[in-house]
Amino acid sequence: MPSYCVVGGGISGLVAAYRLRVTAGPDASITLFDPADRLGGVLRTERIGGQAVDVGAEAFIARRPEVSALLAELGLASRQVGTTGVRPLIYAGGRLNSMPQGTLQGIPADATSMAGLVDEATLAWIADEPRRPLPWRPGADPSVGALVADRFGQQVVARSVDPLLGGVYSGSAATIGLRSAVPPLAAALDRGAPSLSEAVRRSLPTPTGGSVFGAIDGGYQVLVDELVRRAGFRWAHVGVQRIERSGDAWSVLDDDGSHCHADAVVLAVPAPRLPRLVEQVAPATAAAAKRIRVASNALVVLALPGGTPLPEQSGVLVASGERLHAKAVTLTSRKWGRRGNAELLRLSYGRFGDDLARNAGDEELLSWAADDLADLFGIRQDPVDCFVQRWIDAMPQYGPGHADLIAELRTGLPPTLAVAGGYLDGIGVPACVASGTRAAARLTTSRVAR
Ligand SMILES: Cc1cc2nc3c(=O)[nH]c(=O)nc-3n(C[C@H](O)[C@H](O)[C@H](O)COP(=O)(O)OP(=O)(O)OC[C@H]3O[C@@H](n4cnc5c(N)ncnc54)[C@H](O)[C@@H]3O)c2cc1C
Repeated sequence: MPSYCVVGGGISGLVAAYRLRVTAGPDASITLFDPADRLGGVLRTERIGGQAVDVGAEAFIARRPEVSALLAELGLASRQVGTTGVRPLIYAGGRLNSMPQGTLQGIPADATSMAGLVDEATLAWIADEPRRPLPWRPGADPSVGALVADRFGQQVVARSVDPLLGGVYSGSAATIGLRSAVPPLAAALDRGAPSLSEAVRRSLPTPTGGSVFGAIDGGYQVLVDELVRRAGFRWAHVGVQRIERSGDAWSVLDDDGSHCHADAVVLAVPAPRLPRLVEQVAPATAAAAKRIRVASNALVVLALPGGTPLPEQSGVLVASGERLHAKAVTLTSRKWGRRGNAELLRLSYGRFGDDLARNAGDEELLSWAADDLADLFGIRQDPVDCFVQRWIDAMPQYGPGHADLIAELRTGLPPTLAVAGGYLDGIGVPACVASGTRAAARLTTSRVAR
């Protein structure tokens, strides 16, 4: 019977373990290593103000099929929920603005969508963009910031694009590559769109009318628990130090000095943890992983008394360069619907290149949260409950050339080692589900081939 090790019990590793179980059958031996106090990695649900709240990822893009399909496969389709339909705001220029419609990650197709958010000179520059020649080399991968600043102006970057990319990657337009952030836009430019405005217009998705985001009633813990139950692995509650060759197979050396032998191994740890594991057996993979930069994030979750006068919006994204500490606020109860007495909200801190999440203490974060709510909504209200969660080095930065870097990383792997994770083919939970599935398929296929 085949034996597998999965290193890392976040969503990527759990999906890989589940897929291995489905394909290899009940007798296959699967050991999952993770030293954390619970499985799920960045998927973590806590009870705050008497309600289940996700304190890591809270949603998924509903347009992508992977999470909905997985929920259906696990008999959990009825747990998928959508947003209430209220929209977010953007805090820019020291005030709250409507979120522009008809943009791609904040990149507009014309000046009208930016009216009110940027100044008149920037509006004129956007309107003029289709008349200026666009030098584009097919296959190019500039940072989103460089391209948008050149074509539409720096204010569009700071007030429209940065707030969105800050939410997704804890990054900024300057650190994220176009091909990773907005693949359809890069493809439209490759196909010869004459201007950036026209490329955005050609790439805008057709509105489906449904909720853009999905979430799970009861939190991501519901999905994590079901995957753990179905995958039926042995949880080795310890970190892995490195992978060594053992004849045709592998020896997984853990932090306690024990060895676990396996025919094949899935490495589902965050990018900064990968090099040490594979330095000896896949040096090119280790070298590529070292080049992936990461950002950290801290979340403050507050439960405010029911009836606190919060706006009927899903939250606020904050432009770069504003005086606020938070980079985003989610009005959780407004976004997903009230499920209890308290008004839940999540404030998010830390962007790539700063050390807020790592260095700010809990008291400091809570006091920033109180100030930010006063500045944004004019409310000062003591919470009935609160929770602080830090995610250190958890947000990979999809810089220019990221796809080539990942191709290099994967090429360095022997056939019976596979990688899965949010730093590979997309940072979101749907992409992680896909990466876990792909990793398991690689191992079961390579076993058949042997
Ligand atoms: C604050 C935050 C909010 C987010 N919000 C969203 C969202 O709303 N929607 C969305 O789609 N995506 C969101 N994301 C992105 C998404 O949640 C992550 O990309 C995804 O959960 C990563 O899963 P993973 O399994 O690849 O990694 P992780 O969840 O990081 O899991 C890796 C696991 O590996 C373990 N590990 C590390 N080192 C070792 C070792 N040496 N040996 C054994 N185990 C080890 C860790 O303990 C951890 O459990 C968010 C991310 C963050 C940080």
